[in-house]
Amino acid sequence: MSVQVFKFGGASVKSAEAVKNVAVILRQFPEKPTVIVVSAMGKMTNAFEQIWLASLDNPTTINEKIEEVKNYHQQIVSDLFDEIPNSLQRTLNEWYTDLEQKARSPKPAQRDYTYDSIVSIGELLSTTIISAYLNSEGILSEWKDARALIKTDYTYRSAHVDWKKTTNQCQEQILPVFESEETKCIVTQGFIAAADTWHTTTLGREGSDYSAAILAYALDADQVMIWKDVPGVLNADPRKYDNAKLLPSISYKEAIELAYYGASVIHPKTIQPLQNKSIPLWVKSFVYPKESGTCIRTDVPQEQLIPSFIIKEGQRLISIATRDFSFIVEEHLSHIFQVFSSHGITMNLMQNSAINFSVVVNEDARELPLLMEELQQTYAVRYNEQLDLVTIRHYNEEIVQELTGKKKRVLEQRTRNTIRFLLK
Ligand code: ASP
Ligand code: MG
Repeated sequence: MSVQVFKFGGASVKSAEAVKNVAVILRQFPEKPTVIVVSAMGKMTNAFEQIWLASLDNPTTINEKIEEVKNYHQQIVSDLFDEIPNSLQRTLNEWYTDLEQKARSPKPAQRDYTYDSIVSIGELLSTTIISAYLNSEGILSEWKDARALIKTDYTYRSAHVDWKKTTNQCQEQILPVFESEETKCIVTQGFIAAADTWHTTTLGREGSDYSAAILAYALDADQVMIWKDVPGVLNADPRKYDNAKLLPSISYKEAIELAYYGASVIHPKTIQPLQNKSIPLWVKSFVYPKESGTCIRTDVPQEQLIPSFIIKEGQRLISIATRDFSFIVEEHLSHIFQVFSSHGITMNLMQNSAINFSVVVNEDARELPLLMEELQQTYAVRYNEQLDLVTIRHYNEEIVQELTGKKKRVLEQRTRNTIRFLLK
């Protein structure tokens, strides 16, 4: 059966207006059975993170934070419906109660477990509302709990997918729904999954793109469309560069490279499952759904190799040396990598010399203070802050000059296709 997967992120469902636009888009692409993957509305995931923190560290503020989340959703619902359907309000109330219970009985020894069980409610609420709205508009949809579809291990907050179980569940639960003539869409949550029936997990912040790719893989979908507030994949961040240009089609490889270096259009894990099955991924504007956007796929005959650049601000350069100035050898490196991995800190760039190993990381990485402490127990550690990491794909002298200008180059790395600078 030929199925397609659409993904709507937080910005595309942040208000009643935005939710109405989802229906407009679906009406423009009526051909195929569609699995719709939806994120939490607007910036709700941040609000849920605040509830989680309050539940563990500051319980007196829980009520007001929960009120805020309830009011936000209730406002959207009352803007969407002249009269809120009873069944919808009942389901929403159940999620609110669930949220209250979870926030009032956190498991302090299991912070990440508690995170997933609280934060996942954002997606459960958004999909409940959207599914009900689509039905009220005559777009028949069935709501599915993604925790019954995407199966993972128990790594809370960045769970790993069990592909076999997931494929089985998706095929068993989704395909039969589409065999009945009327139901055209299934609405399910991005970002959330489960380790078994009762243990909710999540796939990491911004993980809904990845959810869409997982479902597409499991269902052998014909295509995936990610609906964004930008026209597609651009060669630079359009919020910062007026001259950013659309890349009409790029290969999976180029997309993976761009995502790896920090282009924020698609979640880095999204491409791999799609590439495995050669499923094309469209990145399109929810404001101009008829525009073609970007297509990411296998064969891009004349790949446009115009310079693309990614700038990451707020970077810290950590220099690690042995205390006795002896060489940094494999044994040290293996220990250093293990420390980074155990704190879940991503190395954005690394470079080594005889007695120094240098790593660039995000200054706001969650466990950075703990990591620094642990490194200092063994090594002489220095660091430098407030740096920008600039990556240019398909670079030329002109763009290098434009982006590095008069700034001090703290570090530089160059391959045939990519050049990277750490700037002060
Ligand atoms: N709602 C989640 C987040 O904001 C997942 C997503 O939006 O992709 O991180
Ligand atoms: Mg989001």
